[in-house]
Amino acid sequence: MTTATDLPMDEIAARLGAVRERIARACDRAHRATSSVCLVLASKIQPPAAVAAAYAAGARDFGENYVQEAIAKRAALAHLREARWHLIGHLQSNKARVAAENFNLVHTLDSLRLANALARAHPAPPMPVLIEVRLGGEASKSGVDPDAVAALIESVRALVEVRGLMTIPPAAANPSAARPWFTQLRELRDRLAARCGLALSELSMGMSEDYEVAIEEGATIVRVGRAVFGERVR
Ligand SMILES: *Cc1c(COP(=O)(O)O)cnc(C)c1O
Repeated sequence: MTTATDLPMDEIAARLGAVRERIARACDRAHRATSSVCLVLASKIQPPAAVAAAYAAGARDFGENYVQEAIAKRAALAHLREARWHLIGHLQSNKARVAAENFNLVHTLDSLRLANALARAHPAPPMPVLIEVRLGGEASKSGVDPDAVAALIESVRALVEVRGLMTIPPAAANPSAARPWFTQLRELRDRLAARCGLALSELSMGMSEDYEVAIEEGATIVRVGRAVFGERVR
C-alpha cells in the first residue's frame, strides 16, 4: 500500500496529544467531564501504519467511510485487539451484512430499508446506530431531513438500537459559524428524546475544524481526521 500520509509516526502521536488537550479544555469550558466525549479518528485513506501509530499513542476508536477499505484495514490491524470501528460514511443496504460484522457503531442510518438489512444481519442484540441528519437539506448529501427523523425512529426502533444522532453540517467559513448547526442537532435530539421516549444520548458532530465548538454544544462523539493524520493525499 502506498503511504497516504505525509506525517512521520511520532508526529501523529504529538498531534493526537494536542487534540486530546483541546478536547479537555473544551470540556472544561462546557463544565463537562472529559470522559463524556469519545474521540473517533477518521482514518479514511490513511494507511494501516498511521492507524497503528495512533493506537500505540492510545487511540481506540476509528471511523471509516468505505466498507471495503475498512475490511482490508481491519485485516491488516487484527492485532489491535481493543480497537473499535465506526462506520461514518454512507452505507448501502447491500453492504449491511458486511458492515454489521465489521463495525461497532453505524453513524449513518438513513432509511427503513437499511435498518431492515442491518436487523437481518445483526438481529440480537440489535445493531447500535445513529441517525444521520441532513440539517442543511442539501440534495447532494445523504441523511434524513430534520422533520423526518421522528417517523424514521418510530419505524426502525424495533429493528436497531438507536443511540442518537449524527450530522455533517453545511460548510462553514469558520468554527463559530458552525455553532448554530450543532445547537440545532442538540435541540432536535432533545425534542425527539422526549417525543419517542428514548435517551438518544449520543451526538456525533464536529470534525477537525470545529470539534471544540461541537463539544461546547453537547457533542459526545467527535470525528477528527486531518488534525491528527495531516492532509489526506491519494
Ligand atoms: C473525513 C470525515 C471526518 C473527518 O474530517 P476531518 O476534516 O479530516 O477532520 C469526519 N466525519 C466524516 C463523516 C468524514 O467523512
